[in-house]
Amino acid sequence: MSAAAISKSAWAGPERRRVYAIRDRLRLVYGIPVDRPHGDALAELILTVLSQSTNDRNRDVAYFGLRERFGSWEQVRDAPVGEVELAIRRGGISKVKSARIKAILATISETSPAALDLTWLADRTVPQAQEYLCSLPGVGRKTAACVLLFSFGMRDVPVDTHVSRVGTRLGLFRPAAPFEELHDSMLDLTPRGQELELHLNLLRHGRRTCDARRPQCDACALARMCPSARTFKVRSTAESRRAS
Ligand code: SF4
Repeated sequence: MSAAAISKSAWAGPERRRVYAIRDRLRLVYGIPVDRPHGDALAELILTVLSQSTNDRNRDVAYFGLRERFGSWEQVRDAPVGEVELAIRRGGISKVKSARIKAILATISETSPAALDLTWLADRTVPQAQEYLCSLPGVGRKTAACVLLFSFGMRDVPVDTHVSRVGTRLGLFRPAAPFEELHDSMLDLTPRGQELELHLNLLRHGRRTCDARRPQCDACALARMCPSARTFKVRSTAESRRAS
């Protein structure tokens, strides 16, 4: 089932009051998340690399495996790649991730003004910090946004697969827009200071209700304000008829 049930020609872009209405409805269902910025940008960066193509639990197991096995990020950087791979194996695609982590750490060592440390990013503007992070091997806008928002509370909003799918179905994003555009759109539409709330609540909604293959539109708190609800309900009814 595709993410978009709205055609490109029918898409008009979100009005601000619709964004507020969606935010308020999500707030009723999921509350306002509170997560203070922790300040450790390098840890957040490695955690985000480990989160690729796995669930939160396996990501955390891989992260703590890495921290237990090595006493410092310098040791991870200098270790044989096979040892790093072994330490993060539970997180999946460990061959790719171990090589990427080592490449990132080596690049930061060469380019960061503070050796293996990224706390200085907090003193940069958002575009400057994004530019530096996106210059690191394999780091894109989503990873950069996770680092800036979760570490420092800077104004950036990660658009992962769940946020992208739910936002597109709700008509917040242009159908089939590339990820770079999704990030710019998400930033434009997010009320200032509510970056974490909108990101996390759209993510939760994607996991719990607006499933990629079978969105639960009948049970969805956003159904009355979702332009895709009717299309999915019609498809679901047709599928049930074919199956009976
Ligand atoms: S009604 Fe809800 S579950 Fe259905 S597509 Fe819209 S947001 Fe997703």
